[in-house]
Amino acid sequence: MCGIVGYVGNKSGVPVVLEGLAALEYRGYDSAGIAVIDRDNSAVVKEVGRVEALAKAADAEKIAGPLAIGHTRWATHGVPSFNNAHPHSNAAGTIFVVHNGIIENYAELKARLQAAGYEFVSETDTEVIPHLIDYYTNQTPNFEAAIKAALGDLVGTYGLAIATVSEPDKLYAARVSSPLVIGVGKHEHILASDPTALMEYTKKVIFLEDYDL
Ligand code: GLU
Repeated sequence: MCGIVGYVGNKSGVPVVLEGLAALEYRGYDSAGIAVIDRDNSAVVKEVGRVEALAKAADAEKIAGPLAIGHTRWATHGVPSFNNAHPHSNAAGTIFVVHNGIIENYAELKARLQAAGYEFVSETDTEVIPHLIDYYTNQTPNFEAAIKAALGDLVGTYGLAIATVSEPDKLYAARVSSPLVIGVGKHEHILASDPTALMEYTKKVIFLEDYDL
């Protein structure tokens, strides 16, 4: 289980997320990634290796935006690789997820989604989550209801940051048995799996409880 950092606010979240991931670096990890989520300008950058390499790549791609999620991965399902690095998304690239933990029933969920026509690009347990949310998006009144329906199918542990291009001012967080904390700033919120990642920005923190969304 490794690190999650998310940002929603009134400036670009990229530096905050990258600095937060660097602050979590002591925990050790095998790959890292960041996504900026926007109505028509989303971008994902991933690197196998250190946050410094991710920061360089993000800089080269000039990604920026007020809604961003990032992850350092400690692989549990699937080798450390570009495709297995988080964030994971649905095929349309409209739903983005970073995850700490283990989805125990992912094989069953993956088979169900594949039978419904969903294609997977990674070997991770995590990738079922964006596809499941996508699946429920067509059957529920709004994105939050789709997330709730998807979470209802998961067995295992998770700390999640979730975002969609259709709600570029919202960062969703959910947890079961994986720590998540929200830092409340001025015109901004920072989400992290460990308060170390947000101490520099705010002292006002909310620790999420199990089953919070
Ligand atoms: N189980 C997920 C994976 O292997 C998340 C691992 C983590 O917590 O970093 O990709």
